[in-house]
Amino acid sequence: MKLKNVSHITITLTNNCNMQCDYCYCGQKYEKRISASVIDKIYSLVAMSDVRSITFFGGEPLLELELLLQLHQTLLSIKPDLRFCLTTNGLLLTPKIYQLLLNKNIDITLSIDGNQARHDKHRKLHDGSGTWDLIMKNVMLLKPIPRVRLTFSPKDVHGLAHDVKTLHENEFCKLGFYPISGIGWSIETLEQYTQEYQMIVDFCIS
Ligand code: SF4
Repeated sequence: MKLKNVSHITITLTNNCNMQCDYCYCGQKYEKRISASVIDKIYSLVAMSDVRSITFFGGEPLLELELLLQLHQTLLSIKPDLRFCLTTNGLLLTPKIYQLLLNKNIDITLSIDGNQARHDKHRKLHDGSGTWDLIMKNVMLLKPIPRVRLTFSPKDVHGLAHDVKTLHENEFCKLGFYPISGIGWSIETLEQYTQEYQMIVDFCIS
């Protein structure tokens, strides 16, 4: 059976979100929580397949913390050696919730856009205000600082290496890069990305 070969699944707990990023594919457009029938299918899939790891995703998954914890508990009862991670925008990532998730061995990845100007340009609250200060107020209280997922568009490639250095100076040590796909990457912006990436590599090995 093909499903047998599935090793990882990503669960979109909700498409609802407490942010409204300008590049979002879900957010406010589809305020939809995962259904009970989909949850049942996930349990069956995990039971009958080689799934070893699960990512909780959204929308913003921490809007459904109670459901997340229920799923986590049930999935572990089906397969005790499952590994879990969660991708969050950080608005609800208080030290208390962070510790709760760490205690349950759920790895956390925080999505940000590099620096404050870039971040606030794209990642806004529903009233249009920026979210950098709100997130950093939470994140600077977290130990260890979570892994970061840096999202950027072709227009924001310039300065990526500088952002990485600045984040590193502020104790953000685990970084991943997520160029937004499906929008206007030209040869020039791809070359720029290559240059920035090379600077990051040079910085990491220096
Ligand atoms: S945080 Fe993620 S789900 Fe929420 S609006 Fe931004 S891109 Fe969309």
